[in-house]
Amino acid sequence: QEKDYQFMLRTRNPGGFIPSQLYLTLDRLSEEYGNKTLRVTTRQGFQMHGVLKKNLKAAISAIVENMGSTLGACGDLNRNVMAPPAPFKNRPDYQYTWEYANNIADLLKPQTGAYYEIWLDGEKVISAEEAPEVKAARQNNKNGTLFPDKEEPLYGEHYMPRKFKCCMTVPGDNSVDIYTHDVTLVVMTNESGELEGFNILAGGGLGRTHNKEETFPRMSDPIGYVDKADVYDVIKAIVATQRDYGDRTDRRHARMKYLLEDWGVDKFRTQVEDYFGKSIQPFKPLPEWKYQDFLGWQEQGDGKLFIGISVENGRIKDEGSFQLKTALRKVVEQFDLPMRLTPNHNVILYEIEPSQQEDINRILHEHGIISDPEEIDPLTRYSMACPALPTCGLAITESERILPKVIDRIRTLLNTLEMGEEKIVIRMTGCPNGCARPYMAELGFVGITPETYQIWLGGDPNQTQLAQAYQDKLPLENLETFLEPLFVYFKQDKTPEESFGQFCQRVGFDALREFSSTYQLE
Ligand code: SF4
Repeated sequence: QEKDYQFMLRTRNPGGFIPSQLYLTLDRLSEEYGNKTLRVTTRQGFQMHGVLKKNLKAAISAIVENMGSTLGACGDLNRNVMAPPAPFKNRPDYQYTWEYANNIADLLKPQTGAYYEIWLDGEKVISAEEAPEVKAARQNNKNGTLFPDKEEPLYGEHYMPRKFKCCMTVPGDNSVDIYTHDVTLVVMTNESGELEGFNILAGGGLGRTHNKEETFPRMSDPIGYVDKADVYDVIKAIVATQRDYGDRTDRRHARMKYLLEDWGVDKFRTQVEDYFGKSIQPFKPLPEWKYQDFLGWQEQGDGKLFIGISVENGRIKDEGSFQLKTALRKVVEQFDLPMRLTPNHNVILYEIEPSQQEDINRILHEHGIISDPEEIDPLTRYSMACPALPTCGLAITESERILPKVIDRIRTLLNTLEMGEEKIVIRMTGCPNGCARPYMAELGFVGITPETYQIWLGGDPNQTQLAQAYQDKLPLENLETFLEPLFVYFKQDKTPEESFGQFCQRVGFDALREFSSTYQLE
């Protein structure tokens, strides 16, 4: 008799888009086949845990038949394409990010029919029509040796050396952690809001391995600018460069970030230009990046409203008086609302008529959900955790299940030190793979041995600065004695407006260590 193997299903939703029909299907499937919860991921998809092997086909076919997909959400190919989740209808630049997130997801979608053969018995599914320019761009094969395989023109027989991640954004909006992707496209519009082209960054990625110095998190570099007509060709050229030159001998060294690191930007750009067949133009100036989470009630710019709902650790569940799963089901069902998942594992419901606001607020409150982000502890609001134990096979430590307790302890410590107003970006993962992007946090916890975490300090509240490893092994029981000197030093010597992460960067780790070594605990 076959064992009861359990699986995790992950959905593919460019820009985090979840139509109401798909949400209600996922909600039902999680009750029927999963562990009765849904997990919003940090790449704007859903994960459903605990699906038995014998139920996989029923679950995947139901997802596909209800406007969803799991194709390419895992594996050595382009993963879910991210975009800012805010549904601003009066901002053409935001609309372009959604359009191009979809188009690039289609461009880089594997062409194999195997997915449909395995999960849908080869049945043709009705899916959204691909944009003609995307179809044309995929078929256009200027150079026969560049895309040699007819069936799988981009990926060829061997796919990519490793996973590949793309995101879109608009100038100034860093809701998507722009520096952490293989490729980031920034929508560049003219004064009338018309799309002109894209700034391109490449070579970001966070995963690493403990005690392997040759693996490290890396922020992407500016590569240049292309006109809008060239965007698909340049993306194909970047994919082909990584496909052909990415390291296929060592998976730990196979992400495109190592190609950028080993080659430098100029050599990388030259190779991409060779495949692209044109020069890449200079990177255009951009304003400063600002992190945004779009929580609470806001106008979407066409008379309708949206609401961003904070989902602690991305887990949609019912537990005691906290009935988020039931509340979302009721609201989505009753008002037929689409959803956008955010890169900070929160949820945005949109297309809401002002007349529906009161009813939605009432349903949320009746189910113990806070709709006003000002009522959420900022330590929780800006935090992220990966799922880790018990559902992730790579986890060394707890993450999602323990972060709320860790945050409570940090909150108590800050209050005791009369630093209650500080907002610190805290992120935790159960292994160095870094799914919750701890290496961009002001205070990052990375599981290293059971109940022990590597501590990363020095990220920025706007996620524009890489943190660095400060302490290799911190047993969680020593959390307060470890943090207290750092917080006291910060309180004493910070400049006005300086955040904890910025302070750690400015004074440097030697100064932090020296202060900690001479500090007498209260
Ligand atoms: Fe990702 Fe590691 Fe967390 Fe698993 S334990 S979810 S691989 S960071």
